Amino acid sequence: MLVDSHCHLDLIDPSLDRVEALLAQAAAVGVGHFLCVSVSLGNAPVVRALAARYPQVSASVGVHPNQVGDDEPDVARLAGLAADPLIVAVGETGLDYHYGAEHITLQQARLRTHVRAAREVGKPLIVHMREATDDTLRILAEERAQEVGGVMHCFTEDWPTAQRALELGFHISFSGIVTFKTAEPIREAARRVPAERLLVETDAPYLAPVPHRGKQNQPAYVRQVADCVAGLRGVEPSLLDAQVSRNFFALFPLARKDQAGLRAASR
Ligand SMILES: [Zn+2]
Ligand SMILES: [Zn+2]
Repeated sequence: MLVDSHCHLDLIDPSLDRVEALLAQAAAVGVGHFLCVSVSLGNAPVVRALAARYPQVSASVGVHPNQVGDDEPDVARLAGLAADPLIVAVGETGLDYHYGAEHITLQQARLRTHVRAAREVGKPLIVHMREATDDTLRILAEERAQEVGGVMHCFTEDWPTAQRALELGFHISFSGIVTFKTAEPIREAARRVPAERLLVETDAPYLAPVPHRGKQNQPAYVRQVADCVAGLRGVEPSLLDAQVSRNFFALFPLARKDQAGLRAASR
């Protein structure tokens, strides 16, 4: 079984017919679990409802660094939302100076809010980092993010940067970008990240991998990401599937709700 550790099902299409078709297409290529990630307080209830409806879907709560003009949570409010047992992680949060350079102060304050809320509820962080490496890693360290850990999602940097995130206790998740031949520094990182800290994702609807590049992305395409990473590391695809699934459920233990349900039913 393979897990898509980061997707936005509701941003592909919020209609349940379409979501169910996407989950079925993914299941047909062995993808059995999906972490659907919140980007705003506006879409958080939609994401949560998908996790309530489908045992194979997990949910997070958080406000994306590029989200502006939206409802802004403080630590107490965010921690209150994140304490929900259906919520497995806090994010996505982070810093993105590529698109959000004019909102740097807001982004940094918001990242601190997310780390504090995550520590309050003891849940891991989903971190988005783009053209903001030093500030992101500095703030994570200052706020003691290593107490909860988490994932650097859609990792697009080099091996030395991956090492710094690993030292902070974070996992590294690779997206379809790793399949682009021009992405050699990212591919080097994908070869060298320790097996037990590795995750894969689609970030659908964004960033479709080769050979779907340019089309709308969907969770089934995490198959191409995982097979690419397996090839780079010289391991059997089935072994990589099992490893990243183990890593996912170790990092996000509340995502095991399908099994928790089975346990409750067998009692
Ligand atoms: Zn992101
Ligand atoms: Zn995302």
